[in-house]
Amino acid sequence: MSLDIITEPRLLPSVTRLLEVTSNDSVPHDVWVAAARHVLSEARATIIAGGSVSQEDLALEVAARAIQDVAPWPTRVINATGVILHTNLGRAVLSDAARQAMLDAAAYSDLEVDLQSGTRGSRDTHIERLLVEITGAEAATVTNNCAASLFLALTALGSGREVIVSRGQSVEIGGKFRIPDVCAQSGATLREVGTTNRTYASDYEDAVSDQTALLLKVHRSNFFVSGFVADVEIEEMARIGREMSLPVVNDLGSGCLVDTTRFGLRHEPTVQKSVAAGAGLTLFSGDKLLGGPQAGLVVGRGELVERVRRHPLARALRCDKVTLAALYATLRHYARGEQYESIPTLRMLGLTADEIRARAEQWRDALSPAGIAVRPSASTVGGGSLPDAELPSAALVLDPAEYGLTPNALAQRLRTGDTPVMARSEQDRVWLDPRTVQPDEEPALLAAIGSALRPPGSFAATPARRL
Ligand SMILES: *Cc1c(COP(=O)(O)O)cnc(C)c1O
Repeated sequence: MSLDIITEPRLLPSVTRLLEVTSNDSVPHDVWVAAARHVLSEARATIIAGGSVSQEDLALEVAARAIQDVAPWPTRVINATGVILHTNLGRAVLSDAARQAMLDAAAYSDLEVDLQSGTRGSRDTHIERLLVEITGAEAATVTNNCAASLFLALTALGSGREVIVSRGQSVEIGGKFRIPDVCAQSGATLREVGTTNRTYASDYEDAVSDQTALLLKVHRSNFFVSGFVADVEIEEMARIGREMSLPVVNDLGSGCLVDTTRFGLRHEPTVQKSVAAGAGLTLFSGDKLLGGPQAGLVVGRGELVERVRRHPLARALRCDKVTLAALYATLRHYARGEQYESIPTLRMLGLTADEIRARAEQWRDALSPAGIAVRPSASTVGGGSLPDAELPSAALVLDPAEYGLTPNALAQRLRTGDTPVMARSEQDRVWLDPRTVQPDEEPALLAAIGSALRPPGSFAATPARRL
């Protein structure tokens, strides 16, 4: 086909002619036909509106559309950014057991039936048992995510009354999810106490009235304050709650079940500590540091959990069976004490810079060495958790200039290859951090780097050797 520019609808090629130059067996024939019809009708509209199209672009558009029509979504991506909980890449990587559980749950299952008695069961029971065992709480329930848990808890316990929160915790969590707005939507009135940087126990005590429904604590998970600051710890809030007969709701966000100092990170408040300190309800995410699927976990005193569970909105915010299956499998790793080996998020947090450098060096040796170096680097936790934390790491650093490319062009090649790879562009280089690359992805990653660095039309350069 020539590169002719077409400016009249009657000169557009026929579907048959277009398919002669584009179609192949990797996509079914009817998909090619539909793609060609779609592209031709758009081209016609462009020309009628006074524009023009090139024959070559028509063919490329048909191919792109046909391939997209048969591609699954979401497509698996290799995360070489070093950001462990990358929100745009789907946050936590699930364990093998959690993935298998999702597959099993996709068929019929005993989701809401007790197989022994044959009677109806609750979809909460099994997860509640594990959460009670792991956290020490009396009861537990699950919602769609932590934002839903907070909304539901405020609605069930606070609607029509006042919720007291420190002004320094009246924050935006992300995606316009703001504590004052959520509170307003729940029908509760927010009563902010203290100042942006300092809040004392007496601020809560002075604000309590017969209108007060609960005291709310919100973990500052996605920003960091330092300097002249004072906060009231959960133990102290629980004491005030006991004295005033008010429940304390603790939104922990990331909901860590393990001690983060073992990874060289700052100490994140744990769920177990919040429960032991006397929080009435503790809320946390399933897909942040917990390392499971998107979910909102609610643990605490039996009577408060029951009010949350029984609220009519609970039905609107509940989890799907596939999510519950993955959550159960993830929690079981904790119950069995195998979380550090089995949960990818914790495994990645635990890798040392030496282990990561050794992997980067293996990759470098397996690829063509031109323009490829291994350098010290830093990984981050991501997902709105531990915003100031950096984990010492190492990276495979590609110099795009060596291959006549800009950093953006190389990063784009990596994203759009057979196996999409997400990397970091920094200091005119493209950085790949092995920390977030799963062990079974290494052969595909090396092949992807090899083909991204290959000059167009050349098949000789940088063959990726299997590790
Ligand atoms: C992340 C976060 C949430 C929201 O959690 P999702 O599970 O993403 O809905 C709520 N509160 C805090 C403090 C958070 O950090």
